[in-house]
Amino acid sequence: MQTWSSIPVPRVAGEPRPLRLFDTATGEVRPTAPGDTARLYVCGITPYDATHLGHAATYLAFDLVHRVWLDNGHDVHYVQNVTDIDDPLLERAERDQDDWVVLGMRETALFREDMVALRVLPPREYIGAVEAIPEVVEAIAKLLAGGAAYKVDDPEYPDVYFDRSATGRFGYESNYDQETMNRYFAERGGDPDRPGKRHPLDALLWRAARPGEPSWPSELGEGRPGWHIECSAIALNRLGTAFDVQGGGSDLIFPHHEFSAAHAEAITGEHPFARHYVHAGMIGLDGEKMSKSRGNLVFVSKLRAEKVDPNAIRLALFAGHYRTDRPWSAELLASARSRLATWRHAASLPAGPSAADTVARLRDHLGDDLDTPRALAALDAWAAEALSSGGSDATGPTLFRAAVDSLLGVEL
Ligand code: ZN
Repeated sequence: MQTWSSIPVPRVAGEPRPLRLFDTATGEVRPTAPGDTARLYVCGITPYDATHLGHAATYLAFDLVHRVWLDNGHDVHYVQNVTDIDDPLLERAERDQDDWVVLGMRETALFREDMVALRVLPPREYIGAVEAIPEVVEAIAKLLAGGAAYKVDDPEYPDVYFDRSATGRFGYESNYDQETMNRYFAERGGDPDRPGKRHPLDALLWRAARPGEPSWPSELGEGRPGWHIECSAIALNRLGTAFDVQGGGSDLIFPHHEFSAAHAEAITGEHPFARHYVHAGMIGLDGEKMSKSRGNLVFVSKLRAEKVDPNAIRLALFAGHYRTDRPWSAELLASARSRLATWRHAASLPAGPSAADTVARLRDHLGDDLDTPRALAALDAWAAEALSSGGSDATGPTLFRAAVDSLLGVEL
């Protein structure tokens, strides 16, 4: 898959701050400790519909991770997938009498446009599930050979499943209890009642071909890949094991990230799959989570068509902490537009107060588990002072502008 185009990230004077992030597996904010190359994997979209603000909030949160690591001088190896073959895509294509390949290509193209508009730095490798089928098959073959996977006893549809007890560590990533796992597994695409499984929570690795469904020939028989193994294989083959951050929305904590980790660890025998499992909160509308089943989605492309400045969308989503579930509203967007206008006015002054301390605070807050509400407050304070009392530092407005661009991705 082709990734999207990049933009320059200005270097900012002053001392960078290392990044600490909340890790779902250990339940605490811990320092990230990348080597020269920081390794980031963020789960991508299933391209059956346009990018909504919930998606945008997730990719913006990890864009900040990317930017803070760049500020710290790391080379960032960022990998993202596109689940361009899976049940939701086929169901939508069927519903709309559309070709699933065309639908997937169209929505992936729109997603790229949205990411460019939102100034999200692109992944270095953007990998589709279909193009990754050979490596997914190889991964599943290893699991079968090692006894971590099995074929169900069904001559018609000999699907392959992962034995969740294979690593002896199942549950370490989400820390959910059995009842919560059962609920999310059933709600989020799992098939607890599939006859022939050893355990209701065992996850699908390879779905044998069904009439009318796309399938690919392989040593496992004709079929198509499950979702979790797609991310395990794509990440392992590009980032190796114990990479720095595995990211996604909080609805991926279980079963997706639990199984991606378990599959990869069963393949390599190494633990952990990722050093940090990081999850962004959900965006709501009118008191409910924004989701396709509720039909209450606000699309980035629709806001763009209404000429909303994407920089204002960034600021609106950064007004709340990335880990909190938070509502979208017209008032939130209005307040972000007003903040953007104020910052632009202040940054356009020929001189202002020194911005060095403000930029230090911005770095401190972002380094502290991406605390954007406090970061924005620090920047507001500088802009207010510049507009009320002025100042004689000609580098103040330029430094302010460069830091907001580089670290928050907001263009003034
Ligand atoms: Zn994934």
